[in-house]
Amino acid sequence: MLLIIAVAIGFEAARRLVQGGPPVDPTGYAFILLIGTILIESGRAFVMRRVGGAIASEAMLADSVDRLADVLANLGVLIGLIGVRMGLLWADAAAALIVAVIIVRAAGMLTWRSGDILIDRAPAGAEEDLRGAIRNVGGVREVRSVRVRRSGPNLIGDATIATGRMLSVEAVSALAEDVKARARSVLPRLDLAVTVEGQKQGADLVERIHAAAARNGGVRDLHNVTVEREVDGSLHLTMHAKLPGDQTVAEASSVSRNLERSIRAELPEVTRIDIHLEPMEPQVVPGQDVTARNAQLAAQIRAIVEAHPEVKRCVDV
Ligand SMILES: [Zn+2]
Repeated sequence: MLLIIAVAIGFEAARRLVQGGPPVDPTGYAFILLIGTILIESGRAFVMRRVGGAIASEAMLADSVDRLADVLANLGVLIGLIGVRMGLLWADAAAALIVAVIIVRAAGMLTWRSGDILIDRAPAGAEEDLRGAIRNVGGVREVRSVRVRRSGPNLIGDATIATGRMLSVEAVSALAEDVKARARSVLPRLDLAVTVEGQKQGADLVERIHAAAARNGGVRDLHNVTVEREVDGSLHLTMHAKLPGDQTVAEASSVSRNLERSIRAELPEVTRIDIHLEPMEPQVVPGQDVTARNAQLAAQIRAIVEAHPEVKRCVDV
């Protein structure tokens, strides 16, 4: 509708500029009406811009742009009428052309902004800004994907990042919180969902062995992982793993074979794997203070410790 009006005004103005037409007779109240409109519309545009910015309402901001276009159009008409009063007959048509251009611009902006909102398009550059910000968060090795879209006055998005594979659940959730905090510093209205994945590239051999054991889940507390490169170039792995103490040897060796398969799947170049199985310690070990009963042993320990020239005094044994 705005565009049709603008084209009609522009066409008529151009015709008058070229061919001339009946003179416009600006009466006094036309000026009063125009000045009144300009004042009221300026006030409305100002208030809408303020409020629209404060509550982040795109609709209200678009409305304020509309009001401002009205003000400019009215100013154009006012200048045109002043020109006509001063005897410049072409001034009215020229002002009408300006008005037509302003209306076309306002219509274009309105269409563009509504389109943004209707198809949930995120503000330009939001995804690049977000990607750049979270890439620098400590612990993030790689930003795999970033998406942002609009949801009413807010933004919602998701990000997939890659980090070391052996991070604990605690560390992963702390990392996700860090990423969200950094994202909010760039896009305050963003509600971000973070997916954390383990990065396979760049992981060292020991990390990959721990990852394979963690995925396998059969053993507890894998430790003392040693990777030996033999003279002929082959890899020889040794490691300790703990199992519940009440498992039978048959059960334990089945778990061990299972773990070996998992490690070979992760590291096919390995030639030999030795897994030493140990029973898990009970959660609480019974204890008793026997210092008094073993006074001689305590005295010996004290003597050995104090024999070191750096030690001034042994406080408690
Ligand atoms: Zn051990």
